[in-house]
Amino acid sequence: MNAETISQLYRERFSETSLILVSNREPYIHRKTRQGIKVDTPAGGLTSALDPVMRAISGTWVAWGSGSADREMSDAEGRVRVPPDDPAYTLKRVWLDQKEVDGFYYGYANQALWPLCHMLLEKARFRARHWRHYFEVNRKFADAIVPEFKTGKNIVWIQDYHFTVLPYMLRTRSKDVTIALFWHIPWPPWEIFRVIPQGIEILRGMLACDLLGFHLHRYCQNFLECAEKDLGAKVDWDKNSVFYEGRTTRVLPFPISIDYDSFDELTRKNTTDANLIAIKKKLNLDGRYVGVGVDRLDYSKGILERVRAIKLFFEKYPAYREKFTFIQIAVPSRTKIQEYNELKENIERMIGDINKEFGTGDWTPIMYYSRNVPHKELVRYYRIADIAIVSSIVDGMNLVAKEFIASQIDENGVLILSEFVGAVAELSQALIINPFDIESFADMIKRGLEMPQKEKKRRMQKMRAYVQTHNIFDWIYDNLDAVQENTH
Ligand code: UDP
Repeated sequence: MNAETISQLYRERFSETSLILVSNREPYIHRKTRQGIKVDTPAGGLTSALDPVMRAISGTWVAWGSGSADREMSDAEGRVRVPPDDPAYTLKRVWLDQKEVDGFYYGYANQALWPLCHMLLEKARFRARHWRHYFEVNRKFADAIVPEFKTGKNIVWIQDYHFTVLPYMLRTRSKDVTIALFWHIPWPPWEIFRVIPQGIEILRGMLACDLLGFHLHRYCQNFLECAEKDLGAKVDWDKNSVFYEGRTTRVLPFPISIDYDSFDELTRKNTTDANLIAIKKKLNLDGRYVGVGVDRLDYSKGILERVRAIKLFFEKYPAYREKFTFIQIAVPSRTKIQEYNELKENIERMIGDINKEFGTGDWTPIMYYSRNVPHKELVRYYRIADIAIVSSIVDGMNLVAKEFIASQIDENGVLILSEFVGAVAELSQALIINPFDIESFADMIKRGLEMPQKEKKRRMQKMRAYVQTHNIFDWIYDNLDAVQENTH
């Protein structure tokens, strides 16, 4: 599937069905700048893949209006036609004040649900006031969505853990609408989930959907177990469905992916020999092996574990000192949350210590960049890397792993991948590590660097063929296909 084939297909299929897409982040953000109002399009792969689909079917996208000029550019109901230069669908913005953003987004979504679902209970904070804001923001979204229902079939497709109670709110206002929700993070086992004080409301909220999507079969099973144990819902384990309060919800796996072709093309355009020579020269990498790590700075990504393993690697294999440089790109994230700032400090301190201990006048063991690197630049780092390390201690999918594969146009790179990321199920040709087992992790770095050329190519070819044919458009197609199968 690609943007064109899926758009063509859906133009027809959705001719009599309205699609309302719901996400926290909006696909177009209007910002005030000194030069006037500018439009930003967030770099996220999903947003840019959904945009052509929404254009083709002329749907409605409901999201938080977060830009400083968003109000100015929208009508009284928060609606604006997008893309701004060639309007084809409606973006409906929901307005949130600072307190709501703090409680809903930084509070409940990212300090309760995020750590809970990543099974890191010691980081979870369950505050009643966060829940209140979360609930109220879900209600605001419901208020914004309902007036968008058209006569005929309506499908609401909700993205992610920001909207667990929204489906129930929509269902109480319309029995006929088809509701689906895709959960982009892991779903924990019941022993973990039961800790959250609002577990019942969350499960009940989500079971108002006709379809629930998770990345992996395991997450589906975890969810079904929670529904069975906490709600006493009737689960059909063979059919992956739950019967609760008179309705059936299908619970299915859809592993998300990337826009492989665009990534491959972006790489070919932005990584000419001259580009690669220039970046290597600038970073003083000539004649050295290069490793790369690219992450949103989050405690689930195993960055500290990775840095520890690299330190051990230099201790165990001193011949690699001055011969191997690791580039860590860590884009700051959720910086309003203390936990994230502490993590940033710890990572920076540890890298500083390693560089002090092993570095020489001519060589920095770990180069650290704390900024958002755009994709067209990121592909250069991916290309100059002999190895990429993805060492999450828990991760729903991890798209960086797939992006690295898509950028390996000459099939020379080696992917070192944690066994705790969702992507591992599809990428068995990576070198698989347990990020907590730092001795084996350090040895795997050596193995990756010393892998014979033939083996590298064989592994990379297989993974590239897989990601190419299981891309983001296949994911959208599979989701919407299953949603349509479950329409009323
Ligand atoms: N990313 C980026 N610039 C950076 C660091 C990360 O564009 O400097 C992107 C990266 O290319 C990937 C996304 O951020 O598309 C991270 O996605 P992933 O699934 O790995 O983790 P998540 O942030 O969803 O937990």
